Amino acid sequence: MVRKYLLSIVVGVAAVTAAGATTDYTQYVNTLQGTDSNFGLSRGNTYPTAGMPYGVHFWSAQTGRNGDGFKYTYSADAIRGFAQAHQCSPWVSDYAVYSFMPVVGDLVVNEDARATRFSHDNETGRPHYYAVTLDNGITTEMAPTERGVHLRFSFPAGKDDAWLVLDGYTEMSSIHIDPKRRTVSGWVNNQRFFNDSKSYRNYFVVEFDKPFEAWGLWENVSDSIMPGATTGVGKGYGAYLKFKPGTKVQAKAASSYISAEQARVNLDSELGDDRTLEATKERGRRVWNDLLSRVKVEGGTDEELRTFYSCLFRSNLFSRMFYELRPDGTPYYYSPYDGKIHDGYMYTDNGFWDTFRSQFPLTNILHPTMQGRYMNALLDAQKQCGWLPSWSCPGETGGMLGNHSISLLTDAWVKGIRTFDPDSALKAYAHEVMNKGPWGGANGRAGWKEYFTLGYVPYPMSMGSTAQTLEYAYDDFCAWQLARMTGNKFYEDIFAKQMYNYRNVFDPATGFMRGRGEDGSWAEPFNPIEWGGPYCEGNAWHYNWSVFHDVQGLIDLYGSDEAFVAKLDSVFSLPGDVIPGTYGGMIHEMVEMQLADMGQYAHGNQPIQHMPYLYTYAGQPWKTQYWVRQIMSRLYDSTPKGFPGDEDQGGMSSWYVLSALGLYAVCPGTDQYVIGSPVFGKATITLENGNTFTVEAVNNSPENVYIASARLNGEPYDLNYITYGDIARGGVLTLEMSATPCYTRGVDKSTVPFSLTRH
Ligand code: CA
Repeated sequence: MVRKYLLSIVVGVAAVTAAGATTDYTQYVNTLQGTDSNFGLSRGNTYPTAGMPYGVHFWSAQTGRNGDGFKYTYSADAIRGFAQAHQCSPWVSDYAVYSFMPVVGDLVVNEDARATRFSHDNETGRPHYYAVTLDNGITTEMAPTERGVHLRFSFPAGKDDAWLVLDGYTEMSSIHIDPKRRTVSGWVNNQRFFNDSKSYRNYFVVEFDKPFEAWGLWENVSDSIMPGATTGVGKGYGAYLKFKPGTKVQAKAASSYISAEQARVNLDSELGDDRTLEATKERGRRVWNDLLSRVKVEGGTDEELRTFYSCLFRSNLFSRMFYELRPDGTPYYYSPYDGKIHDGYMYTDNGFWDTFRSQFPLTNILHPTMQGRYMNALLDAQKQCGWLPSWSCPGETGGMLGNHSISLLTDAWVKGIRTFDPDSALKAYAHEVMNKGPWGGANGRAGWKEYFTLGYVPYPMSMGSTAQTLEYAYDDFCAWQLARMTGNKFYEDIFAKQMYNYRNVFDPATGFMRGRGEDGSWAEPFNPIEWGGPYCEGNAWHYNWSVFHDVQGLIDLYGSDEAFVAKLDSVFSLPGDVIPGTYGGMIHEMVEMQLADMGQYAHGNQPIQHMPYLYTYAGQPWKTQYWVRQIMSRLYDSTPKGFPGDEDQGGMSSWYVLSALGLYAVCPGTDQYVIGSPVFGKATITLENGNTFTVEAVNNSPENVYIASARLNGEPYDLNYITYGDIARGGVLTLEMSATPCYTRGVDKSTVPFSLTRH
């Protein structure tokens, strides 16, 4: 007995030690990264998101006025609410918002009057937990679940009345207070982009753990209050509740797009068992920690760890789940496209222009099961909407350009995620590219007829025409690739020619992709530093490289590797001068390029973000290694100024995550990840299938950024890329790092990544 007793103590201690040694990766995440932004300068344009991975609803403190896309700005000194949040970007603003604001003393409902000063010293932002103590002594805490939140409002001790204001926001809302059950329920319908907005409602239910001393309704237009009222419907209707002075009150809230009953189901299933906020918070921490620890990096500085995990957090928020679970666990959803209820999974909130390049290639590594569901949901969305999503928020906006859903579908297929019918995908894509939809430039195809007949979109018939031509040609490559892989000869033949259309906007005389008239003439006057016109949010220097699928074909247009590399070098060596062109004045992306101080290299926006990796196609991979390390160390950190431009639904942060692992997907739709230069000495990715893929960078340091030699699973490795299969099978990529470039590794054409011309 005694021996056995002793043994169990020893085992117990050992277990505690092991648990104690387990790293809590959430400690490295700063959810305020990128929040120090404004209309004229984006350092991320993020808000301190408290939410679960791909959660249906997030939560955030709100400093901006109701409906303002700049919902939280770091420079603001007052908070006016704690809001349910879904926003992808300030440029599309939010939907389905309602908020809470605790007030002490006199009841104040008006959003300006109730705004209360705070200091960032009294604020904590973690993925699973946000807390702030306002200058008036009230502490608000939030611990999110996928479809709900656990809130706690702690009022300062004393005799002052404690109030909680529920704000029904900017459009119609319905409120019902049930003092007996200590609940407030109702719905809001503020939104911009539900394609069937008439049927749309966001039903919510909030359950409190303390009795109400008094209550009433108010409305947001006149700020009039209705003491004692319990039920009302109107524009911006809200509720207020009174609690005992000094109360610490917890509230559990959940919402649903399907019904009030489903909101209750969501509340019970996600929060029902949690009696305290601590329990919800700990569950959220574990979910995030399990996910973050699947990409375990070692050997960096504390700040590098903070930057990496803050970025990994942001790269795991969008596209959000838009489905709910019945009591038996089966998924179903309200469609933001047709307003009807459907069985199955739905995902939304993403502008693919921003994310096909980095976020989806990362997601395919980390979450293939979810991607499989998502690819089916894309095709379901097409049936409901009539169009493939391009920029959904949560319905289709058609924002930006290109038809990049095909990039997602083909990239998934190439990587073995084959849950969808490829013929349906190709048919949907063909409809997309031979029609123009009702919304934006990326809903259907702007200029599609001319693109097919002339081989390019003419300028000035279409603004952004050259950008369109380039991105259409890449998308057509993806369609060709999917058709080719699945034996669909019909679509293979159609897109086989179109994917070379990038050649039609290349002017050999100037060496730039240029605007071209219907008669074939080049648009004049031409200056490669002029923004807008035939380019979208960029200039000729930025769009020259948008030939993801045929970099060798692009090199051939320049005539030689040397000429191509010289052109790449110029991007970094030129002055960062800007001519605003058709924008008529400086837009934030121009300011960000100048602040980055890397010449014409504009990492603040997507078009050129793959360009540093193109040296690996032209015999000088050491320049890729140099520049990606420069970009990571100079343009990213974990602070509120931590991004060099809009974060864009994980786009900006996924670039960092992949690049910090030493990888980047220059051409989604192929199975390759180009090798760059990793930040950390060791990075271990644990895949869904349980395999691990490790990138070891021996002798890595801020000076030793160059790859001297490489081995894959112990064998010498000369290629400038690895494949998805290499990662998924598990293994070890070992890189010997050096302070001097290696002029012999990865320089032969047999080592370069995929190009159509070499296919
Ligand atoms: Ca952008």
